[in-house]
Amino acid sequence: MGLEEALPSGVLLTTVEKVAGYARKGSLWPATFGLACCAIEMMAVGGARYDLARFGMEVFRASPRQADLMIVAGRVSQKMAPVLRQVYDQMPGPKWVLAMGVCASSGGMFNNYAIVQGVDHVVPVDIYLPGCPPRPEMLIDAILKLHDQIQDTKMGANRKAEIMALESAALAAPSTLEMKGLLR
Ligand code: SF4
Repeated sequence: MGLEEALPSGVLLTTVEKVAGYARKGSLWPATFGLACCAIEMMAVGGARYDLARFGMEVFRASPRQADLMIVAGRVSQKMAPVLRQVYDQMPGPKWVLAMGVCASSGGMFNNYAIVQGVDHVVPVDIYLPGCPPRPEMLIDAILKLHDQIQDTKMGANRKAEIMALESAALAAPSTLEMKGLLR
């Protein structure tokens, strides 16, 4: 079935935001950046079995200037944190960050002075992926969820209003110190 059958009248209406989101999610290029064991699973995603090429993302860029997705695959040491931030700063906007695995998301089992307790202390994170290590299928699932986020990203005045709403919600949220979880 061609586009003509889906659109009998031959007219398609959409918004600039939706076209931009569609183009952005279909042209993500990850930065070549692996920090620990999670990176092995990330590399598997680029291979033939999991085939990240289905989404046009198989080329991990050697230069951050050609990348718009940072997959933080592994624990972030204090020594690595400024390097990670520099790589992030060198990426052109709009750009996105995926924290892969518990170590990147929260420090994981490395609750010590040498490891940053969550990469969101260093760069803004768009999506967190749990697991130790997450399977390649889980990484693909996180990437598809990030695609949905990118597709729905607002622009211009709508984006400013969205950011203000998100900041208000973050300020109103209880601090993690007050949260009671299984470990407290
Ligand atoms: S989450 Fe597990 S697999 Fe990933 S970097 Fe940490 S220890 Fe390694």
